[in-house]
Amino acid sequence: MGINEFIEVRKDFIVPSRISIISKVRGLRPKEFKYGKVVRKTPLSECPFCPGNEFKTPPATLVVKLVNGEVLYLKDSDTERVRDWKVRIFPNKFPALTTLGTSLNYGYHEVIVETPEHIDLPYVKDLNQYVLVFKAIVKRFTNVLKDPKINHVILIKNYGPLSGASLEHPHMQFFATSFPLPYVVEEITYSTKYYKDYGRCPYCELISKDLNSSRFIYGNEGFIILSARAPRSPYEVWVLPKRHERSFINITDEEIRYLVDALQKILKAYEKCLGNPSFNLWLHTSPKKLSNGDDYVYHWHIEISPILTTWGGFEKGSGTYIIPVSPEEAGEYLKKCVRELI
Ligand SMILES: [Zn+2]
Ligand SMILES: [Zn+2]
Ligand SMILES: [Zn+2]
Repeated sequence: MGINEFIEVRKDFIVPSRISIISKVRGLRPKEFKYGKVVRKTPLSECPFCPGNEFKTPPATLVVKLVNGEVLYLKDSDTERVRDWKVRIFPNKFPALTTLGTSLNYGYHEVIVETPEHIDLPYVKDLNQYVLVFKAIVKRFTNVLKDPKINHVILIKNYGPLSGASLEHPHMQFFATSFPLPYVVEEITYSTKYYKDYGRCPYCELISKDLNSSRFIYGNEGFIILSARAPRSPYEVWVLPKRHERSFINITDEEIRYLVDALQKILKAYEKCLGNPSFNLWLHTSPKKLSNGDDYVYHWHIEISPILTTWGGFEKGSGTYIIPVSPEEAGEYLKKCVRELI
């Protein structure tokens, strides 16, 4: 085979202007990525996310507590903190947005502590605990979106030293903005166009097309995990709800169970089969409104991007990504890995 067969250009299914160059010239195997490995650290007694250290953070806006099997949703006051919590959501001490803002800087930037346990794992071990985390997120998002000044919200998780995470205690963050976030607007624009052209949501189409491809990694009754067709990093995956729905906050309790099952599986696969890399995860959901009205198509989803290579000037400057592993190879590898974990 000549070099022509080793380099292939792929377009993203949703946003065709996003391009990946699949280059197998280096022929890297999964364990040969030397970049982005998580260094395990000893627990920090001073960790502000650990139980007992609640006063090291601003007062929580939502605290989940279990009392005799009943789930309670509480909040801190300025002078008191809820103890014995399961999940804790509070404003970031170093926020990028503030409710004291008077312009585009108005917004919420909060931290979601996923477990009281100080453990360096990319996922929550106990699925019941994971369910509590996502129920709390839905509750908090629903509340924040009631703020008339807020239009959009994005959930993110940075894991590992190369992800931007500064603390190892398992946590996520969300940002709620007054303006719709540009990547989601771009996806909505293309989805709506696709719908006009073909009469179908492109995400629903992607699910049915890729279900029987080598990019299919895992599926349960509610969700499907696919290896991204035009990844921006090797082993990038998308977690898609099977039910067509533009807004994450409309997820049902039953769907939350399927979501955490899927998330745990893929994050375990990263940990066990990719050498526990740093990664970024984000959840794309519809804004409340777009400037051109309500007539648009969208399908909420999660994208997860492990940090196994670094973006150079070409990637940053061109919106084109050089990927040393094909999406099919990545899909088959992760699928096998997920199967072996079950
Ligand atoms: Zn901690
Ligand atoms: Zn759809
Ligand atoms: Zn997206």
